[in-house]
Amino acid sequence: MKILIVEDELEILKKIEILAESDGHTVKTTTSVEGLRQILKSKVFYPHVIILDRILHGVDSIDLIPDLKSTFADSRLMIVSAVDTASEKARALDAGADDYLAKPFSAVELMARINALVRRKSLYDERSHLQIGNLTLNSEDRSAKVFDGGFLPLSQKEFQLLYMFCSNPGKIFPRDLLLLQIWQSSNEIESKVVEATINNLRRKLESHSANVAIKNMRNVGYWLEA
Ligand code: CA
Repeated sequence: MKILIVEDELEILKKIEILAESDGHTVKTTTSVEGLRQILKSKVFYPHVIILDRILHGVDSIDLIPDLKSTFADSRLMIVSAVDTASEKARALDAGADDYLAKPFSAVELMARINALVRRKSLYDERSHLQIGNLTLNSEDRSAKVFDGGFLPLSQKEFQLLYMFCSNPGKIFPRDLLLLQIWQSSNEIESKVVEATINNLRRKLESHSANVAIKNMRNVGYWLEA
């Protein structure tokens, strides 16, 4: 996943960065509020997780949380702070942070907390059986079956997409969100793959006479109609 680290203590920043990269994550870092504002403005890097130090060169970063949450609505936000009181923790969570870790912490502990955070908030629900219309999905063997219509031969991404739609019928998923959730990408060039995969999925649903359909509206997103 993509991780944004905002931390003014270079030693801590480096430790987290090295561990995150060795775990295979793509990392972007900044040491200041100004740097963070530039990342927010450019929107080139869409992080899955933001690690935000509470005090950056004397500035309290909690005031930036509303901006962060509106620009990166689907990112998980982890606050790290030397301030370790229940009231300050509550204030950060109230402001929209997803978790709060007091310093000192080990980089390993931080990564474990981040992984837990991403799992907890994942839109990809882990219920094993899901039935909607005449369609049944089984997340254990990743099969999709239409009553009287047989199994749909789905690729892994097609299954993940269909499962996400079926877990949230009627909910509109913007294309960028699907790209992030299913492909772990925020690359505009790759966004065509969403359309292509959904078109394949539609063909398979139709040819097996499923009575659910994936609808879309330009510049809005995709949703499942049952
Ligand atoms: Ca600091």
